[in-house]
Amino acid sequence: MYRKIMLPIDLAHIDDNSKATSVAVEMARFWQGEIHAITVVPPINAMVAPYLSDSVETDTLNEVQNRLESYLKDNIPDDVNASLRVVEGTAYHEILHEAKTWKADVIILASHRPEFSDYLLGSNAAKIVRHAPMSVFVVRA
Ligand code: ADP
Repeated sequence: MYRKIMLPIDLAHIDDNSKATSVAVEMARFWQGEIHAITVVPPINAMVAPYLSDSVETDTLNEVQNRLESYLKDNIPDDVNASLRVVEGTAYHEILHEAKTWKADVIILASHRPEFSDYLLGSNAAKIVRHAPMSVFVVRA
């Protein structure tokens, strides 16, 4: 039922993803499914862009890709199939777009950074819950 499991990972707050990652692994095992991880990198600020070398954007995306690969290697056991994607843009927008394109059955994400405990749902999580046409599993931080 939930075979295509999308797992958005905020690499800037890597430790906060562990509970959501464990839920994704258990769900993939239960339904014999697969995990598709995505990390969204914010676009380079227009004010500094003219002063940066042309390769900064590509280098950054490559570096993030390597980090996401290494995170998956360390946290997703070999018996679970996993793929990944790194894109540039606004997190909630790109996550929703990828979830529809990849035809995810469920998106699993953390509710918010644990240190921000005065609110229950982060801004990206809230928008994803509100707009996703598929199920969303919000793992409470
Ligand atoms: P907070 O503002 O507390 O970080 P968010 O709503 O931004 O709360 O994040 C909640 C979850 O949304 C994260 O745990 C992650 O699953 C997803 N998410 C947020 N930002 C990104 C990002 N840049 N790339 C991928 N996933 C993200």
